[in-house]
Amino acid sequence: VCPIQVVAILIILGMISCIMIFKSFEVGFLRTNCYLIGDELAGEGVLIDPGGDPELIIDAIRKLGVKVTQIINTHAHFDHTAANRALSQALGVGIFIHAKEVDALSRISGSALLWGFHIEDSPPPSGTIEEGENIKVGDILLRSIHTPGHSEGSLSFFIESHAKVIVGDTLFHGGIGRTDFPGGSYPQLIKSIKEKLFVLGDEIEVYPGHGPPTTLGWERNHNPFL
Ligand SMILES: [Zn+2]
Ligand SMILES: [Zn+2]
Repeated sequence: VCPIQVVAILIILGMISCIMIFKSFEVGFLRTNCYLIGDELAGEGVLIDPGGDPELIIDAIRKLGVKVTQIINTHAHFDHTAANRALSQALGVGIFIHAKEVDALSRISGSALLWGFHIEDSPPPSGTIEEGENIKVGDILLRSIHTPGHSEGSLSFFIESHAKVIVGDTLFHGGIGRTDFPGGSYPQLIKSIKEKLFVLGDEIEVYPGHGPPTTLGWERNHNPFL
């Protein structure tokens, strides 16, 4: 009996609903966490924040045998979008982002140049993601949460079935996102974290745009910025 048959039997017995693929890759100049989230049985996934190293990401996707159906950016900063063009071409998929980030997405190569980095411009998005949308990946649902503050259109993605939230640069382990970039707002960031993320529950695992994962409970109790 091969592993896929075991999984199928468990699903038929109702013991598991789906097997999630959840991979993170540290990519690019600013060591951004790029996430691949997929449904093992459906064989499909979404790619969040391809911020660099496209060959590494493509290689991992091929090895997993996952069909990526869309690229999602938590926000438009170039460290989260630098490999948008390479990945969308290689995988033949569109890019999705909050409407308030579309403008900034069209200017990423210029922004990167100000920091001394040469990157390709992103293709325009194929669509936008608003607050409260359910993005379906096989049997897995990612619910979008608009968490402005680090940027106007920053998005987080809640995977309720697996108690995980991907937060981009809104919240870090022991830190919070910068608010000194255009469109940033410190009061809005704190409001987003407290009113949109902490309400999800202390046990929820947090996957930030940089650095290690944490939990909402740990950050609520120990994060010096909150
Ligand atoms: Zn950022
Ligand atoms: Zn970042």
